[in-house]
Amino acid sequence: DDSGGGGARLRFANAKNPDLRRLGRGHDDDDDPNFPYAHKNLEEDGLPRVGDWISEGEPMYCIVDALTDDSKTGKHKEKEKACVQSVRRLGQPVKVARGASRASANQDDAISITLRFPRNPVIGDKFSSRHGQKGVMSILWPQVDMPFSETGVCPDVIINPHAFPSRMTIGMLIESMAGKSGALHGMYQDATPFSFHESGDKLAVDHFGEQLRAAGFNYYGSEPLYSGVSGCLMHADLYMGVVYYQRLRHMVSDKYQVRATGQVNNLTRQPIKGRKKGGGIRLGEMERDSLLSHGTAFLLLDRLLNCSDRHVCYACRRCGDLLSPATERNTVTSAGQSAADATNKAMLRVFCRNDLCRDKTGEGSNDEAVEPVVLPYVFRYLANELAAMGIKMTLNIK
Ligand SMILES: [Zn+2]
Repeated sequence: DDSGGGGARLRFANAKNPDLRRLGRGHDDDDDPNFPYAHKNLEEDGLPRVGDWISEGEPMYCIVDALTDDSKTGKHKEKEKACVQSVRRLGQPVKVARGASRASANQDDAISITLRFPRNPVIGDKFSSRHGQKGVMSILWPQVDMPFSETGVCPDVIINPHAFPSRMTIGMLIESMAGKSGALHGMYQDATPFSFHESGDKLAVDHFGEQLRAAGFNYYGSEPLYSGVSGCLMHADLYMGVVYYQRLRHMVSDKYQVRATGQVNNLTRQPIKGRKKGGGIRLGEMERDSLLSHGTAFLLLDRLLNCSDRHVCYACRRCGDLLSPATERNTVTSAGQSAADATNKAMLRVFCRNDLCRDKTGEGSNDEAVEPVVLPYVFRYLANELAAMGIKMTLNIK
C-alpha cells in the first residue's frame, strides 16, 4: 500500500491467530472461525472496545505490517486497571485516486485511546470549588461522625473559615447561598455576572437571603448543627450551603515516594533519584542547614552518610594516602607448603604501596599504619578524579 507515504503499510489491525493448538495451549474458542485473531479483547481493527477493562500487561492495541505480516502489540503498562473511555481516529482520510481501491484509504495514521482510572478519594487528594478554593483532604471521617442538621442533612466537606479572609473568595459564599436556596425551592438560579452591585437596590446576600427565609431557613444561611460524635447541639454559628466541587488531578497515589534501601548510582554509590525507580528524596543544602540549626548532628550524619554512600576504606596514617593502601591475599607460594601454613596464612594482608611505606612492613605482615576509616564513597571518587588530573590528595589522620 503506497497511498499514504512511508508509514502507510502499518495499520491498526488485530493480528491473525497463530496456531495455538499446535503449541499445546489451544482452546476450542481459539479456533472460532468467526474470530480468527490473536487478541480476544481487541476488535478486528486492532483497537479495544469502549467500556472494556484492561489490566496490567493486557494488549491495548495491535499494529500489523501489511507487507511482512509482522505485528506489534501495545500493552497496558500501569498497575491499575483502566476502563477504555474512548477510541478516536485522528488521522486524515487519504485521497483515493479515481479507480483505486477504497481499501487503500485509511484514517489509522494516529489513534487516540483515552483510559479512565476510577479512584476513590483518599487522604491527600486535592479538591477545589470553582472559586480557586483548592485544598487537600486532610481527614476522611465516617459519615456517622459528621455533624448533621435538624433535617438530617450532613455536609460532605468541612472547610476552615480562615480560608476566606485573605483570599476574598466572596463568590463561593454567595454560590453556597444561591445553591442552598435553589435546592430548597427546586429552581435554577440566574448566575449572570454583574447582575448585583454594592450600590444597587439589592445585594446578592439580600436576594438569596430572602429566598432562604421564605424556605424557613436563616437569612444568612447558617444552621444549628448537631455533633455526630455526641449528638449535642454545637454552640456555634455554622454556615452550610450547596457548592459545586471538583476533583483536581493531583492524587497521592501518583506522588507518594518512599525508600528504605534500593538502587544506587554506581559511580557515586549515592541513592538514585526518581519516584518510579524507587529513588530517594534529596536532602539538600537548605535541609542540611535546618538540621544543623536544630543541633541534630546525629540525624544529619544518618541522612548524609549512613543512609547514603557510607563506605569503609583503608587510609595510611603514615603517608596520609587514601589510594595507596591495598589488600593482598596470600598466594600458595607465600603461604608455604604445609596445610597448616595454607590455612593460617591464607589471609588478607593490608599494606601501603606508597614508596615511603612499602619497606616499613615485612613481606607477609600487615602495615599497622594502614587503618580503616569511614567516609562517603564520593570522597574516594573525588580522590580518584583528582589523581587522574595529577593532583595528589593526602589526609592528615591522627
Ligand atoms: Zn602509606
